Amino acid sequence: MKEWARRFSLLLTGLLGIEMQPVMSFPRTLSRAMRQLWLGAWLCCWGALAWAQDGAPVRIGVLAYLGADAAVAEWTPVATQLQRALPGRTVELISMDHAALNDAAQSGRVDFIITNPGHYVELESRVGASRILTLQTGGTLPTSAWQAVGAAVVTLAGNPRIQRLADLRGQRVAVVGKEAFSGYQLVWRELAAEGIDPSRDLRQLLVVGLPMDRVLDAVASGAADAGFVRACMIESRPEWRQHFRVVSARPEAGFACATSTRVYPNWPIATLRHTDAALARQVTLALLQMQAGDSPITWAVPADYQAVHELQRELKIGPYANLGVPTLTALAQRYWPWLAGLLGLIALGGIYTLHVERQVQARTADLRQAARERDELEGRLRESREQAEHMARLSVLGELSGTLAHELNQPLAAIGNYAHSLIRRIDNQRLTPDAAREAASEMAGQAERAAGVLSRIRAFAKKRVAQRQAVDPVTLVHEAVALFRGMQVHAPPVDVVGELPVGTLLTVDALQIQQVLLNLLKNGMDATRQLTVERQPLTVSLRHAGGGVHIGVRDRGEPLTPEQQSGLFEPFFTTKADGMGLGLSICRSIAEAHGGRLDATPAADGPGLCFTLTLPHDDRIHPRDHLHSA
Ligand code: ADP
Repeated sequence: MKEWARRFSLLLTGLLGIEMQPVMSFPRTLSRAMRQLWLGAWLCCWGALAWAQDGAPVRIGVLAYLGADAAVAEWTPVATQLQRALPGRTVELISMDHAALNDAAQSGRVDFIITNPGHYVELESRVGASRILTLQTGGTLPTSAWQAVGAAVVTLAGNPRIQRLADLRGQRVAVVGKEAFSGYQLVWRELAAEGIDPSRDLRQLLVVGLPMDRVLDAVASGAADAGFVRACMIESRPEWRQHFRVVSARPEAGFACATSTRVYPNWPIATLRHTDAALARQVTLALLQMQAGDSPITWAVPADYQAVHELQRELKIGPYANLGVPTLTALAQRYWPWLAGLLGLIALGGIYTLHVERQVQARTADLRQAARERDELEGRLRESREQAEHMARLSVLGELSGTLAHELNQPLAAIGNYAHSLIRRIDNQRLTPDAAREAASEMAGQAERAAGVLSRIRAFAKKRVAQRQAVDPVTLVHEAVALFRGMQVHAPPVDVVGELPVGTLLTVDALQIQQVLLNLLKNGMDATRQLTVERQPLTVSLRHAGGGVHIGVRDRGEPLTPEQQSGLFEPFFTTKADGMGLGLSICRSIAEAHGGRLDATPAADGPGLCFTLTLPHDDRIHPRDHLHSA
């Protein structure tokens, strides 16, 4: 504490330019009181820190390769010496195995470590251990700091099978553990030089753990043919010297024991990163004062552990375990700015992708909405078109059925006549079965004719949704002509001419095509109504050409003016007093909706117009070569 108080007084003098005594005197002004309070607080903290430093135990972790008791016994002289040198502190020796010592060094639970050279080099790179001294003498036999640690391959003295290290191939070998320096790694290096891999070429590698005596027990009991131990261990007890033999003992200058391997520097005592420098200095000085003669242990200045590095490099262990294989942490430490940049880019990419994704979603929603609206519009358009077509059909029907009453009147009158004739014959008792049968069948025929006219008109006038199906064009044309003639008392004659290959079919809405044909026939009739009888007949022709069916409706009317010709298909173009001018434009749109055309050309062979409805025939059905006549 005297030392701390002196240092503190000097510090204050330097900082404030005042002496301790005036500071401690009674304050005369407020500012001076504040300053003194502040200084008082510093004094307390500083004192507490100094006390904590002074009072904290000094912990030394030692590797217990011969077991905890042996380690404590071996290193007690060191603890005693330090305890003498550090009177205010408690010196604690803590014996541990490899793993525990690693843990303690890493977590700062020990201030110093004493361990074997291999383990020290490992801790040097892993936790920043730094040797302050190397053991000079220790144990029972004289060693030097630089030539102190070797390993002995031992076998029973009477075992003739193992004479050289190469004889270990195929044998059972006991070791304390693969992490043991003199207990495994030194021999491993020599075996590797002979081309022997202990984990592959031995019959069995028996790991017995610490203390090292267990290796000798395993060899003695016959559980193993040989064992690896620290050199000088056999020499430490006469019975062991008698019982075991060191295989391939080699002379090493300045090394007193039998060793099967090269020898390496002795154990070091090392500080750790957190060890107080002043304490390290005190410990170094105290240990250097341990003199041979007074103490079984003496220390020398730190030895060179290059030989240990070479061994570990050769065996690719310790700090060289991952040489050439970069660890993730090492990579992260080295390339962190790039990594950070990359992560930033990925994050930006992610944000951009999200942004684009949201835009795409918004756009998709807009498109869906637009598609819905378009579908609705199309639906409304379709409805209006169907409505218009229906109106047009009714209009054609209306125009054609002006004389429908006459048409129906004819069969009704005939039926009435037959009925009256029957009654008369019954009254005159002249009714023969044959006459009755003839009258009845005539009546039935007339009734059927009237019913046929009515059913065709009903079907034609019905409001319905367009429906396409394969139909025979010849039948279609004949039905249209029948409907036309059925509704007209004075209908002009209609010739159906031409031939189509057998099996020709059209996939159409039959009613719509009939509507087109009725329109064309009615227009033809209107165009020739005022002309002579010879010019009134109409001709419907059927022809197959260019992959389509051509249905022509030809009249023999007066030629058209150029204006009339060009206005034919224009909506609301009409030359008739009661005409609407919609028929032809609707007919053309029906033709186009079926993938076809409707054209009007002057007739090639004489007066009149020829309207040609062209429809593609159904590709799925191949017309056969021979023709069938219309
Ligand atoms: P509407 O019959 O109600 O007038 P259309 O669209 O069917 O309507 O016909 C339009 C016009 O085309 C007719 O008014 C007529 O002047 C002319 N037209 C149609 N077909 C013929 C035809 N076969 N011969 C001469 N002119 C025709």
